[in-house]
Amino acid sequence: MSEQHEQTAAGGTLYVVPTPIGNLSDLSPRALRILGSVDVIAAEDTRTTGAMLAQFGVRARMTALHEHNEEQVVGTLLARLAEGQSVALVSDAGTPLISDPGYRLVGAVRAADLPVIALPGPCAAVAALSASGLPSDAFSFFGFPPPKPAARREWLSAHRHWPHTIVLYESSHRITGLASDIAQSLEPERTVALAREISKRYEQHWRGAAPDMSDWLSADTDRQRGEFVIMIAPGPPRDPQQHIDDLLRPLLRELEPSRAARVVAAALGERRNTVYRRALALADDADAPPASE
Ligand code: SAM
Repeated sequence: MSEQHEQTAAGGTLYVVPTPIGNLSDLSPRALRILGSVDVIAAEDTRTTGAMLAQFGVRARMTALHEHNEEQVVGTLLARLAEGQSVALVSDAGTPLISDPGYRLVGAVRAADLPVIALPGPCAAVAALSASGLPSDAFSFFGFPPPKPAARREWLSAHRHWPHTIVLYESSHRITGLASDIAQSLEPERTVALAREISKRYEQHWRGAAPDMSDWLSADTDRQRGEFVIMIAPGPPRDPQQHIDDLLRPLLRELEPSRAARVVAAALGERRNTVYRRALALADDADAPPASE
């Protein structure tokens, strides 16, 4: 575990280079060597990256690559790589492509069969998960949840039975909204965790029951500032009978029981007859007059 083979960037290679998410010392010596030796750095914001590199006394040639121009600059960068130049891709903070630009560039470089090397490094999602104590054997990173409350609650309800730890990013503008939607959409005993300002002066990690996150945030308005990662423990397994009913009910408003049963049986890999019997029972219940008082 002591290799230090590449002293400078190799020609024709795209390097995906993570940068600090709050603490400059997290820029690895290897990242610094690559950033200091590539022919060009494709940066989400050239001023942000320029300022960071200046702290290390590095001056580099840069070009902007952000969500609004990625499509256009991919061609130019591909041509440079094909000519044998080396390129580093960086975002403002953390690992490029993780809720950050770069996916189109890396896709195009791989499609052109040119080498892509990813340097391991800072990523808020991984740092937060690794300190959360929530199951980490399998997890799902979904980036930012829907910004509007109604869509966000719908999203949370749709993922109530998600079998792995959910990792989400959130900004300070929406953190209290997300916390209150989590309290409304998940069972009260669900464990959730929050990591705030990772690697910065006021870093905090909190973990507790879903309804308590809002209280923790409102206990001190300073806790609502900065950058957040929210994690949700895996959901309880879905009751198979309940799952069938949940799918059948809306379908029975539009379809005959036999057709609704066929759709649900195919979707869930269940026996058609079993689902059909249940569809008939639900359809009967729906037709029955309300019980008299
Ligand atoms: N590419 C980055 C990464 O690898 O983590 C993420 C970029 S994304 C545009 C920015 C979001 O990441 C923030 O809104 C926040 O949710 C999360 N984030 C970034 N830095 C963070 C930090 N120091 N502490 C907590 N969350 C952070």
